[in-house]
Amino acid sequence: EKFILNGKLVDRSEGYVDVEDRGYQFGDGIYEVVRVYNGQLFTNKEHLDRLYLSAEKLSLQIPYSAEELTKQLQELVTVNQLNTGIIYMQFTRGTAPRKHQFPETSHLTFVAYTNEVERPIDHFEKGVSAILVDDIRWLRCDIKSLNLLGNVLAKQQAAEKGCYEAIQHRGEIVTEGSSSNIFIVKNNELLTHPATNLILKGITRQVILKICDEHQIAYREETFTIDDLLHADEVFMSSTTSEVTPIIQVDQQKIGNGTPGALTRQIQKYFDQEIEKQTKQ
Ligand code: PLP
Repeated sequence: EKFILNGKLVDRSEGYVDVEDRGYQFGDGIYEVVRVYNGQLFTNKEHLDRLYLSAEKLSLQIPYSAEELTKQLQELVTVNQLNTGIIYMQFTRGTAPRKHQFPETSHLTFVAYTNEVERPIDHFEKGVSAILVDDIRWLRCDIKSLNLLGNVLAKQQAAEKGCYEAIQHRGEIVTEGSSSNIFIVKNNELLTHPATNLILKGITRQVILKICDEHQIAYREETFTIDDLLHADEVFMSSTTSEVTPIIQVDQQKIGNGTPGALTRQIQKYFDQEIEKQTKQ
């Protein structure tokens, strides 16, 4: 098993990151997770676009072009013989004596590795349960930064209650999951939080909205409340690893009749087609 350290393919056991790496000490860095199907990268361009955007927002200069990065990632997938899984990549502000302000000189630390991750087919078919939690995160959730403690604490609460996802809210407004975007369906129309500073603009969310455009499915990028969520016809979450996963129960309360909704199932089918289109061999 190989991984990439600063642009070079090395053995997992050889890799080493300094104890004063700013990613390790401050969470001063950014990351992306790219899905691999059939040994091929899915929506890689969209993920890299977002990576460069996150970098810009934190004044990080990624020392590779998108083409160079893509080449490295594809090579990693090939040497690790990954078929279905994910690539995790992160860039930190590098190693420097521990001071909060940016160091005058430092080289970004770049790490990427692969993991086998099956598609959660069982979840797609049966749906999952979720809980509601207060969104205690900072006000730059649009940046895919390494600072994930708010998300970690939210997901831990869900896990302790035997639930798959924690749906966060600021006051009455539902923002997003701990590692997903949230959609509700009411009267055959989708609603999802607008892509503001309060949520991550998910790539899966973007694919779903494109699907809606192509198939004349009505949607609005508008805020909705906890009450709207609990009384929705359907609810689903979206993410790179979870794709389109129905949520059938929130805080012990059934959504609709407590089974995955018809429109959710339809969007899953269109999503499958999108995967096939992009990753057929
Ligand atoms: N929101 C948060 C907080 C996330 O961590 C993620 C990613 O896992 C998402 C949304 C979904 O984004 P994407 O569809 O790009 O994976």
